[in-house]
Amino acid sequence: MNSWSEEFWRLTGLITLCLILGLVFDEIVLLLIIGGTLYLGWHVFNLYRLDRWLRGASHTTPPEARGIWGEIFHHFYLLQKGNRERKEKLTAMLDRFQQLTTAMPDGTVVLNAKGAIEWFNDAAGRLLGLRHQDAGQHIVNLVRHPAFLDYLEQHDFTEPLELNSPTDEKRSLQIHVIPYGRDQRLIVARDVTQLQRLEQMRRDFVANVSHELRTPLTVVAGYLETLADDSDVQTHTLWGQSLKVMQEQSDRMRHIVEDLLLLAKLEGSNTPPPHDPVSVPSMLAGIREDAVNLAAKKGHRIKLDMDENLWLYGNEQQLRSAFSNLIFNAIRYMSDPGTVTITWHSANGGAQLDVQDTGIGIAAHHISRLTERFYRVDVGRSRETGGTGLGLAIVKHVLSRHRATLKIHSKPEQGSTFSCRFPSHAIMHHNNTASPQPVTK
Ligand code: ADP
Repeated sequence: MNSWSEEFWRLTGLITLCLILGLVFDEIVLLLIIGGTLYLGWHVFNLYRLDRWLRGASHTTPPEARGIWGEIFHHFYLLQKGNRERKEKLTAMLDRFQQLTTAMPDGTVVLNAKGAIEWFNDAAGRLLGLRHQDAGQHIVNLVRHPAFLDYLEQHDFTEPLELNSPTDEKRSLQIHVIPYGRDQRLIVARDVTQLQRLEQMRRDFVANVSHELRTPLTVVAGYLETLADDSDVQTHTLWGQSLKVMQEQSDRMRHIVEDLLLLAKLEGSNTPPPHDPVSVPSMLAGIREDAVNLAAKKGHRIKLDMDENLWLYGNEQQLRSAFSNLIFNAIRYMSDPGTVTITWHSANGGAQLDVQDTGIGIAAHHISRLTERFYRVDVGRSRETGGTGLGLAIVKHVLSRHRATLKIHSKPEQGSTFSCRFPSHAIMHHNNTASPQPVTK
């Protein structure tokens, strides 16, 4: 019998007893009232016991009771026990989480939708100079760095931000922002001082080696040229051929060294982006002149379509190096006679250079790696055409110095398009009356 039917029979029994006694004493109503009061009193008494038990030591065993109250006490006990176990589990988890975040070498800060600090770990306190009383404050009032403020206000966090630690200028931090939940953000600050030191050592090493190689190479190239001019040597077939190969190889080494030095210079520079007015149209016209000779030998055509009024703020030498790399690559990587189309135009509020060819194209899996140093799809072909494997790495660095990006679209056997996209603040509208001119050679 369950407790509810037991209760039902108890009540029925009590009413029956009251009725019998009422009939015996001829006081049915009075006995029913007495019975009802006793029944109610029993419930109130049990309610009082329940209340006392809940307020007091609810973790102890519940009061003894029969019937429905016994069941109620038992249910409350199970509920309390479950809650207690859950609470213990949560506390243990929280403890573990706190131990973990304390042990974490990376600084972690949780920001709410308004940018105020909700929580941070000890490493964040150390690296970003936050104190426990700073919780609830806006992070930009505490980490006062213009670059940090700009970075937080933008909405693209794909690239991390590099910053000197506010607590120690000699420490470099890499800041990642991870949006989550409802407009909340997680800031992860990593100490990359050691990594940067190693990276600097690598750069210095490459730059020093390249620099040291430059002089001996110039000397060797000079002697080779003198020998090549010597008619006695030229008449000797074996020597003549060997000299030609030696000259080609020393030229190749010279190009590699020059490119490595240029890359080291681009990488090592922490100065703000270059800001001289650059006439891109006349620069492109000049590069085209040089390219036409090379293209004509192979039967290629070069089309140039440009907005004559569109100039850039930047470094002319660096931009020339990047653009000519792309244009010469387009010619070098066309087997059959084809067309290189160079377009310089406004796009998305900024400016864009497209270098399109009808050449051999590139398979999709190579594209993301093309700007790595010495990455070549076909090493043989690259060397044959005088490539150093550093051209696109230089392009990437020049563009990033100009806050521009490189996009590559290519299909094997159909050709490639390399697009350099410059932001709106890099462009300059030069007041030239001439309208955009298509030039074809
Ligand atoms: P390289 O001196 O070898 O040309 P780059 O850095 O300029 O070095 O280019 C890297 C590689 O990208 C090249 O070896 C080549 O395989 C590929 N590549 C570059 N431009 C083109 C292009 N226009 N068409 C096809 N492949 C290209």
